[in-house]
Amino acid sequence: MTLPEPRVRKGDTQPVIFVVEDQPELVRALRINLRARQYEVLAARTGREALALAASRPPDAIILDLGLPDIDGTEVIVELRRWSKVPIIVLSGRSSPGDKIGALDVGADDYVTKPFAMAELMARLRAALRRDEGEFAADAPRTVAIGRWLVDLAAHQVTPGSGDGGEQLRLTPTEWRILEMLLHSPGQLVGSAQLLTGVWGPGFQQRTNYLRFHMARLRRKLEDNPARPCHLLTESGMGYRYQP
Ligand code: CA
Repeated sequence: MTLPEPRVRKGDTQPVIFVVEDQPELVRALRINLRARQYEVLAARTGREALALAASRPPDAIILDLGLPDIDGTEVIVELRRWSKVPIIVLSGRSSPGDKIGALDVGADDYVTKPFAMAELMARLRAALRRDEGEFAADAPRTVAIGRWLVDLAAHQVTPGSGDGGEQLRLTPTEWRILEMLLHSPGQLVGSAQLLTGVWGPGFQQRTNYLRFHMARLRRKLEDNPARPCHLLTESGMGYRYQP
């Protein structure tokens, strides 16, 4: 079997992948496999070490264990998401739906359970890096109006469109990711499976209840009349559409 070409950004340095894991053998295996694919690797053994390192040298993606010697990996995600959108792939022995939902809801991008196939983890990493790059595409809109709100996708701020100041609206990381995908295709249907994969990762295509929950919250925050939305529309059985 031939491996796909490693992904290296044109004219850029190697992507930096940050491994947060307390098992030395696993760190070694990940390091070897990541380096073989032209990634630069940084590693931390504890959650606090990870937070300090991520702040001093922001990585392009993070592979994160949940069971760490000091703070829980979920806490690391919460802390990181206060300031960073870096793709986070959880790599954990915990396999219950509750663990997965918990990690994804606080802002993880993907979840791989141990034992895992290295090739699959690498494929998910490539997907996470691609998604991240897509979000910052040069032709993407920067500021979009929804009703009386102005959504600044670059600054990640929602402010009253009247321009006379007023309080910002706060959105969760999950709400941001859904909104970004919809706003990048104004007037177009974005399929539920595409949204679920884009926001939660592969394997979540059936979880349309996640979308219903978060779309309802987005409407309550952004629509003048959430019961009769004008901008964040449901296409029954298919997906959602942002109507400018
Ligand atoms: Ca561990």
